[in-house]
Amino acid sequence: MRSQGFRRLLRQLASLNWQQRSQLIEALRPAVGLDRVCAAIEGVRPAPTGCPGCGSGRHYRHGIVRGLQRYRCRDCGRTFSALSGTPLARLRHRSKWLDYLKEMLDSRSVRAAAKLVGVHRNTSFRWRHRFLHGVRHDQPERLAGIAEADEMFLLESQKGSRQLERPARKRGGVAHRRGIGQQHDCILVARDRSGLTCSFVTGRAAVTARQLHRYLLPVLDPEILLVTDGHKAYRTFAREARIAHAFVTLRAGERVRGVVHVQNVNAYHQRLRSWLSRFHGVASRYLPNYLAWRWALDGDRIAAPERLLQAALNRFHIRR
Ligand SMILES: [Zn+2]
Repeated sequence: MRSQGFRRLLRQLASLNWQQRSQLIEALRPAVGLDRVCAAIEGVRPAPTGCPGCGSGRHYRHGIVRGLQRYRCRDCGRTFSALSGTPLARLRHRSKWLDYLKEMLDSRSVRAAAKLVGVHRNTSFRWRHRFLHGVRHDQPERLAGIAEADEMFLLESQKGSRQLERPARKRGGVAHRRGIGQQHDCILVARDRSGLTCSFVTGRAAVTARQLHRYLLPVLDPEILLVTDGHKAYRTFAREARIAHAFVTLRAGERVRGVVHVQNVNAYHQRLRSWLSRFHGVASRYLPNYLAWRWALDGDRIAAPERLLQAALNRFHIRR
């Protein structure tokens, strides 16, 4: 619109009544949503450096599609945008993403978020996991200083699966065996004293030294002091990996010995467990997504929808 016409429009706004004003705001909402989401995307992924098809760096601007700059590769002719190659590439209704992410920051259920944002509940479910798929990579690269590690267990769940691998449990369900076994998903949480936290689903049943090598070792600073309970897997792992290690013998009633305790990580477990209860059971295969979600919320670490969107895209940006 020409600036003269726009100035005239602005002057006319003064004569609107309140109903017209709210209608106008409603009419602008999708476009404003799209502007905000595109600004957030371009903030984290300014311009692709290479074609996702052939890797060539020779491309030119090729129009704007749904608010995002599109490019065309000179070598293979493929068109792409900042979202190509990310889990969000083909998601629709871009103008509603930030509204949806805000509901995720409020820990809404699939249905509640769907209703509030005005999308189908299947869309709501798909969006939740597409966003979280990216957020999963938003973990600290390194824990340092003193890090506590401990595991917690959840009864495995095949919620939403059409074919169960085992006889169905009664609602809620309890393990058929006492103690921890193949019916439990093991969640390993490691948290250093600065509050940086990594969490992993290591598999079913108790954590093994081998799993600790695989999940824990890559995120531990070599100078770290690892603090755990007396579980043998930690001792074996620390010896093999040559990591400084101290443990409390909970069985003997010892909870704290100076800096040696696992109370921060256990408090994290508690927050995770009570937060998960609102979802009335989480399917085992989606657990890693929920762990990432919880870490985003921890201590309001991510408080703005734009930041959550950027967390979902960050790794894909770095890789390119
Ligand atoms: Zn190409």
